[in-house]
Amino acid sequence: MDFELSEEVELFRDSVHKWVNQECPKDWCRELERKEHVYPQELWDKLTEAGFHGVGIAEEYGGLGGDIVIQATFMREFARNAAGLGWIWGITSFSGAKSIGFYGTEEQKRRFLPKMAAGELKTAISFTEAGGGTDLLGGMKTSAEKVAGGWVINGEKIWSTTADTADYLLLIARSDKNVQRRTDGVSLFFVPRESEGITTTPLPKLGMRALSSCTVNLDNVFVPDDLLLGEEGKAWKDTTKTLNNERIMMSAMCLGMIDGVLEDAIEYMNQRRAFGKLIGEFQTLQHYIAKIAMFQKQTELMLYNTAWLQSQGRPCAMEAAMTKTIASEYACKAADMGISILGGMGYSAETDMQRYWRDARLLRIGPVSNEMAQNMIAEGLGLPRSF
Ligand SMILES: Cc1cc2nc3c(=O)[nH]c(=O)nc-3n(C[C@H](O)[C@H](O)[C@H](O)COP(=O)(O)OP(=O)(O)OC[C@H]3O[C@@H](n4cnc5c(N)ncnc54)[C@H](O)[C@@H]3O)c2cc1C
Repeated sequence: MDFELSEEVELFRDSVHKWVNQECPKDWCRELERKEHVYPQELWDKLTEAGFHGVGIAEEYGGLGGDIVIQATFMREFARNAAGLGWIWGITSFSGAKSIGFYGTEEQKRRFLPKMAAGELKTAISFTEAGGGTDLLGGMKTSAEKVAGGWVINGEKIWSTTADTADYLLLIARSDKNVQRRTDGVSLFFVPRESEGITTTPLPKLGMRALSSCTVNLDNVFVPDDLLLGEEGKAWKDTTKTLNNERIMMSAMCLGMIDGVLEDAIEYMNQRRAFGKLIGEFQTLQHYIAKIAMFQKQTELMLYNTAWLQSQGRPCAMEAAMTKTIASEYACKAADMGISILGGMGYSAETDMQRYWRDARLLRIGPVSNEMAQNMIAEGLGLPRSF
C-alpha cells in the first residue's frame, strides 16, 4: 500500500501553491468576491496566462493532459485562497471541457477544447429549473423541438452560474416527450449565449457574489444540429459519466477551503491576545484547531483515494458520493469553528472566514445535495431506492 503522492503531483502542487499565494492572495480574492455580479475577469486572465485552463484537457487539444489527481490538486490549492471563486476555473474546466471531452464528436473537440485550454471560451451549466434541482427530470419543463437544421429551445433555467458572461451554455432539455422512461428523451446542447431569444438575470445570493448565478430564459432559441452534444435523447445516461468527476472536484474545493481556514485560524491564534496571553494558549481553541486538522486529514485521505480509483478507471460512484458529502460537511464545520476562533473578526468582511463559511455552504446543496448523495449511498448498500 502506498499513500504517497507521486513526485510529479508533489512538484505540481508546490508550484500551484506558490502561484496562488503570489497571484491570488486572499485579500485580493476577498475584494473580487465582494463585488456582486461583477465578473472577476482579472482572475480568469491570470489563469489563462499561467495556462491553467488546460490542466484537465488532453494534450492533443492544447491542454496539459492532467488526470483527475492533478485536477483535484489544482482545485485544492486554488480554492485555498479563491474559495468559491474556484468555480471560475471549475465550470469551464471540469464541466464544460469534460462534457465536450466525454460526449463531443471529434469535430466538436477540435472546435472547442483548444479554445477552452487557451482561456478563449467560457461555459456555464444550465441544468437546474425552478421546478426542482434534485428531481431534475421531474422538474424539467424546458423543451427542444426538432426543426430543419437544428432545434428550437423554449423554457427557463435557474441558478446557472456565470450564464451572463459565458460564451456557451451547457444545457439539458427534453427533446422527446413520448418516452416510457423519463430518463430517455433528454438531450444536451452547447448553446451560444448570445443566441437570439436568451435573457439572463442574475440572482442575489449568499456566497461567491461576483460570479452571478442567473435565471436563463429561452424564447424560441435556435440551436444548429452541430451543437447537439452526444446522442439525441440519451443525455441522462451520458451525464452520469461525468458525475464522479464533478463530485471529486467539489471535494477538492472543500478541502482547499479547509486548508485556508486552518492556516488563517492558526495565524490568528498566534497573534491575538486575551487575559494577558495568546488565544492560541487556550485549550478550547486548540481543540477547534485539532478538529479542523482531523477534518482536513479525513477529507484528504478520502479525496485522494477516490481520485486514484477514478484515475485507474475503477468504479467509484459510492466513494465519490461519500467523499463529496463528508468534504462539504467538514468544510462548513471548519469555517464555522474558524469564525469562532476569530471572534468578531471572523464575522467581519475584512477577513476570509465569512467567505469560506458562505461559499462552503453551497457545496452541501449542490451540484447534488448531501441528502440525495446519502440516498445513493444507502441504495448502493442494497437498500431500496428511496426516491
Ligand atoms: C449559488 C448556486 C449556484 C448554482 N449553480 C448552478 C449551475 O451553475 N448550474 C445548474 O444547473 N445549477 C446550479 N445550481 C443549482 C443546484 O444544483 C441546485 O440548487 C441543487 O441541485 C438543489 O436543487 P434545488 O435547489 O431545486 O432543491 P430541491 O431539489 O428543491 O431540494 C430541496 C430540499 O429537499 C431535499 N430533497 C429533495 N429530494 C430529496 C430526496 N429524494 N430525499 C431526501 N431529500 C431530498 C434536498 O436535499 C433539499 O434539502 C446552483 C445553486 C446555487 C444555490
